[in-house]
Amino acid sequence: MSDNISESGQSWMDEFKDGLRWLKKSKEYVIVPRSTYKERYDICNSCDSFEQLTKQCRECACFMPLKTRMNITACPRGFWGLV
Ligand code: SF4
Repeated sequence: MSDNISESGQSWMDEFKDGLRWLKKSKEYVIVPRSTYKERYDICNSCDSFEQLTKQCRECACFMPLKTRMNITACPRGFWGLV
């Protein structure tokens, strides 16, 4: 399987876009301020559980460019939390 194709057969970018479409329909989330996103993503980027190739967390398997943007998410190891 290509590094750019997920287990569902979609490209990672398509999965990301699907996630954003789902988020836009949801009423239970808020996009965090850009400074919060950057702070969270910087923590992930230097974390030993972060998979650089797919931008996923090895603890929760989440796609971190998306997860770090939502107020309803938190790091499973407690490095960053809800907003
Ligand atoms: S969510 Fe937490 S455990 Fe996962 S990569 Fe980010 S900082 Fe590391």
